[in-house]
Formats: sequence, C-alpha cells, structure tokens
Amino acid sequence: MSSDCLFCKIASGDIPSTRVYEDDVCLAFEDLHPQAPTHILVIPRQHVASMDTAGTEHKEMLGHLLLAAAKIARDKGFAEDGYRTVINTNGDGGQTVFHLHVHLLGGRQFVFPPG
Ligand code: AMP
Ligand code: ZN
Repeated sequence: MSSDCLFCKIASGDIPSTRVYEDDVCLAFEDLHPQAPTHILVIPRQHVASMDTAGTEHKEMLGHLLLAAAKIARDKGFAEDGYRTVINTNGDGGQTVFHLHVHLLGGRQFVFPPG
C-alpha cells in the first residue's frame, strides 16, 4: 500500500469504486471516464507503479491480471465479439495513475494502431 496512491485507496475501500470482480491478487472496477460501453480497470492489490518498475518477481501477478481481464470479458458476454486490453506506461504511453493497471475495453469496434 502506498499512502498517496489513488488505486491503493480504491483497493482498500477508502475511495469508492464500482467493483465488478475481485480475488486475492487483484480487483477490477469501472473506469470513472469510460472510453467504451464497457471500460474496466484491473489492478493488483499490491502496489506496483508501472510496467517500467515491474520485475520478474511480478511475473505471476501480471499473468493473473490478464487472465482476470479475459474472465471478466467472458462473464460480461463480450469476449466472443472482441475487446481490447491496454497497459499505458509512463508519459509517452499516456499513464496518469502510477499504480499498474490493465484497461479492459469492450462493446465497440476498436482501431489499430490506437492514437
Ligand atoms: P492511465 O491513464 O492508463 O493511467 O489510466 C488511468 C485511468 O484511471 C483513466 O482511464 C481514468 O479515467 C481512471 N480513473 C481515474 N480516477 C478514477 C477513479 N477514482 N475511479 C475509477 N477510475 C478512475
Ligand atoms: Zn498503489
């Protein structure tokens, strides 16, 4: 837990969120400013700032986040239509919250490469 981290406060319940999934490693909640009909953030309970500070000790947690996102997409019924998972890293990557998170976006057609 990092005391000044927004997503640590969401994980602890100090800041409210609309949770859609949780287990012992991660939790998932709706993004406050959705960029698609479904826009969910999957975060580790453990504070890791970004992919740039992740190491081999986080290998299992990182796989866990992606598998959780895939499960949520199936459970919500848009996996077969398709979806996008995104991890923004540092400034050029567009990261604004420095607690590692996977964006799970679904419910519309996405283009590639993204802007
Ligand atoms: P990123 O720009 O990749 O760091 O993504 C941060 C995301 O967190 C953005 O999509 C924001 O809309 C979202 N966000 C910021 N504050 C909150 C909050 N209190 N609850 C839910 N989502 C949030
Ligand atoms: Zn944090």
